Amino acid sequence: MLIPKTMQAVVYRGRDDLRVETLPVPKIRSGELLVKVAVCGVCPTDIKKIHYGTVPSPRVFGHETSGTIVQLGAGVKGFRVGDRVGLHHHIPCMKCHYCEHRAFAQCAGYKRTGITAGFEPAGGGYAEYVRVMPFVLGGVVRIPARNSFLEGAMLEPVNTVLKGVRRLSLLRGDSVMVVGQGPIGLMFTRLLKLRGMKVLATDMMDSRLKLARRWGASKVFRADDLNLFDKIKSAAPRLDAAVVAVPVDAAVQQALELVRGSGQVLLFAHTRPGDAAAIDLSSICMQEKDLVGSYSADYTLQKEAARLVFSRQIDMRQIISHEFPLEQTAAAIALASKPTPDSLKIVVKQG
Ligand SMILES: [Zn+2]
Ligand SMILES: [Zn+2]
Repeated sequence: MLIPKTMQAVVYRGRDDLRVETLPVPKIRSGELLVKVAVCGVCPTDIKKIHYGTVPSPRVFGHETSGTIVQLGAGVKGFRVGDRVGLHHHIPCMKCHYCEHRAFAQCAGYKRTGITAGFEPAGGGYAEYVRVMPFVLGGVVRIPARNSFLEGAMLEPVNTVLKGVRRLSLLRGDSVMVVGQGPIGLMFTRLLKLRGMKVLATDMMDSRLKLARRWGASKVFRADDLNLFDKIKSAAPRLDAAVVAVPVDAAVQQALELVRGSGQVLLFAHTRPGDAAAIDLSSICMQEKDLVGSYSADYTLQKEAARLVFSRQIDMRQIISHEFPLEQTAAAIALASKPTPDSLKIVVKQG
């Protein structure tokens, strides 16, 4: 395949400053892949880094990436030029103290990003080509012929949600409230439904509640309903768990009150360091309720995530609302950070 010397890339140059620039196409070394990017999903964690300027510039973000392998480094086995693949930008070492405890997201090796379009590795999906380093090759998944690049790019977000679901000790038929039906909340609704749970979904937007119903919620509620608390109580007097997929502290307190004794509350959107909130500690001690968190993906669930997406048991095509060309990545990120009634999962798509 003909590989050009330069490419377009969207470079993060500082807080809220993304620029379309011409960069050299990354040169690969032995054991690496060069992938021509087809689709890259817009992810809230990148949005936060861009808006708050929490990491040094320059970088090329974008980590929900799929594309075509265009070059193989020496010694790479199991892949061919032309393979359509979904990528995974970090992989745990599987050997350290954290990995022994399956706390993969806390592994120092995991925190290293193994995909780059140039500069400090940061995913690189908002560029035409990315270099995939040897230590993340284990996360490269081939996309079946009948599936699209769009679906291939959705393995990472589905994986993170699958990991979150696994953090809950649920039995078939249990009731779970999912707070927020953005892309992440909807994925929770769907995966919980597939596991046989009764899902109660809340959101501020009717359009999202409608989709939540289609994706398997048994009951849906407006989050701004003044009687929400009582309505949930009567719909699920023994609420087994709640997933908080919006960064709203009051939702955590309410969820802690609503779950039954020994029930669980999963935090999935509270990612801002220093955030503090008052909680009734006796609900944890005497009522034995668990407050748990989940962040990032679990490498060992990659096959299951791929099976769910590619079989369309979770049909991610239904929640992709907008596709932006590469040069409009900044607009894609702006829309994702201020959702509208008709926006859900947003992707940057090339070609
Ligand atoms: Zn992501
Ligand atoms: Zn490790």
